[in-house]
Amino acid sequence: MKCDVKSQTVEELQEQFQAWDCPTYRVTQLLDWLYRRKAISWETMTNLPKPVREKLAHTYSLEILQLARKQGSRDTTQKFLWRLADGAFIESVLIPANPALYGEASDRHTLCVSTQVGCAYGCRFCASGLEGWKRNLGVHEIVEQVLAVERWHAAEDGESNERLVNNLVIMGMGEPLANYDNLIKALHILNAPWGGGIGARKITISTSGLAPQIRKLADEPYQFRLAISLHGATDEVRSRIMPVNRKFPVSELASACEYYQSKKGKMITLEYILIKGVNDGLDQVKPLAELSRRLNAKVNLIPYNKVEDLPWERPDEAAQDRFADALSARGVTATLRREKGHDIDAACGQLRLKTERELAEAAPVVA
Ligand code: SAH
Ligand code: SF4
Repeated sequence: MKCDVKSQTVEELQEQFQAWDCPTYRVTQLLDWLYRRKAISWETMTNLPKPVREKLAHTYSLEILQLARKQGSRDTTQKFLWRLADGAFIESVLIPANPALYGEASDRHTLCVSTQVGCAYGCRFCASGLEGWKRNLGVHEIVEQVLAVERWHAAEDGESNERLVNNLVIMGMGEPLANYDNLIKALHILNAPWGGGIGARKITISTSGLAPQIRKLADEPYQFRLAISLHGATDEVRSRIMPVNRKFPVSELASACEYYQSKKGKMITLEYILIKGVNDGLDQVKPLAELSRRLNAKVNLIPYNKVEDLPWERPDEAAQDRFADALSARGVTATLRREKGHDIDAACGQLRLKTERELAEAAPVVA
């Protein structure tokens, strides 16, 4: 099987071009077509000689994500459902600048990308895990989410080649650290000046807490930010909603995060979804505050986004404020983020689940 051209680093492409006796500046031209002009076919790369284009087409695939469905409108959160080459669906969510979240005031747009089709970790509250894990995304399928959104935006606005996404959060469907090698290579490409050009400090990887991979990530030469989906500050509460906690309990997760923090500085955020009657009790505040202090991490409180078929609810606003105030009173930097994409199924996995169910209902039954 051919590998996709967008899974290749500049060094790998240079090596291939050398083997073809093709000058290195041709690689620069190719990269310009891929990452700046976001070309969708070899034929459009008109400044590359035809024999080179033929060699490329023979050696690499050039897969483009197909837009299956979109929700939301300009200036709000927009959700894209993509159809992959094998027919599987994944989601990306485009969020307009909101400096209070992960980025800075100068940021234009944040894109939330997926790393797997489905998820094997089965957190009880999450739509992505509801129907299990199907497969890992390839490097190019992670990279293409950024390019496909920018391509779509350029077509909508008539702005060509304009950089749209300058902040990335790896918080879509799937557990990024369970697709470690593809994730790191995709982020290398999206970060590289010859590729996506997105600063490493503007890339946040979210994990449900795979402690060994957090340590491995700490040893990589990148300054990526890390968001920990904590959702419970004691083993008792966390294990009830996140099966991964039985494998890597809070103490083990905390020491892996401490290692990350020791290598990277102030780069960790603790994510805490507030679920009514499950983890919103004030008994969680003290251990959460201690953990936040130990890791020099801020806390993002997110009221739970209702998922169809699941019994969980968000606490009322008074209860949310009570929890946030109790944390602040302990000196923790906590933000209460009333979910922006609430109306459009913005929590991870929900649009895909809905579409797959609708398709299943619409599909003729074959005996
Ligand atoms: N697997 C990774 C990244 C994807 S999930 C992780 O778990 O961190 C991205 C974030 O969305 C996680 O913090 C997850 O806990 C949260 N999430 C999942 N379902 C949600 C829901 N229904 N409402 C609010 N947040 C949700
Ligand atoms: Fe998977 Fe993250 Fe959802 Fe848990 S919260 S099921 S790890 S995508």
